Amino acid sequence: MSLYDQYQKEVLEASLWLSEHGYFGSLRGTGGNVSARITGSDRMAITPSSVKYSDLAPTDICIVDFTGAVVEGKYAPSIEAGIHAAVYRERPDVNAVVHTHQLYGSVFAALGEPIPVLFDEVAFALGEKVEVASYALSGSAELAANVASLLANHANAYIIQNHGILALGKNMDKALLAAELLEKIARIYCLALSTGKPVSLLPDATREMARGLRDYDVEAARKKT
Ligand code: 13P
Ligand code: ZN
Repeated sequence: MSLYDQYQKEVLEASLWLSEHGYFGSLRGTGGNVSARITGSDRMAITPSSVKYSDLAPTDICIVDFTGAVVEGKYAPSIEAGIHAAVYRERPDVNAVVHTHQLYGSVFAALGEPIPVLFDEVAFALGEKVEVASYALSGSAELAANVASLLANHANAYIIQNHGILALGKNMDKALLAAELLEKIARIYCLALSTGKPVSLLPDATREMARGLRDYDVEAARKKT
């Protein structure tokens, strides 16, 4: 029994769920990655790089610190560990991070266009809008910096240009829900746009309320640290 057991199990279960539901963009590939903050430390449990999720045991999930140094694990950690670490550094309210190549979210990654949050439930979960982090090569420090530059908007979801999406949560369940809600609005927005009719957006006041709630959550988490 190790201190990390519970985190490794949670990361693997989330990865399998995402994989089985097609969120990694292919059923046979190993795209995407998932992590959980080790509470009260500068460490995280994160999926290994390029290993099929169905082949992994919980103890195969890597433990790395926020500089990328491996603390435990026989595999190399995800090449996107830098993005995950940047989120945990900047956002005390976030304890789980999911990066996927999900289909409809990736439409907006290909367009390099933000997604409007469209519905109350989505606005309150994700924030006032889903912004686009500029393209840089997968796994590069530049990509981690591009994502980090957006985190002050306190949203729980982002598009990564010509790549995929990033979903955040105060726990793993919320991070998975953020990825799911992002896919839902991306799909609905695509369908709505395809009618050629104008898409009705949430009023500014509702989006500002969503932003206010997200700011409150982040401040409350910051005070606790
Ligand atoms: P890893 O297998 O190294 O996590 O890379 C997958 C990915 O999605 C890169 O952006
Ligand atoms: Zn990726």
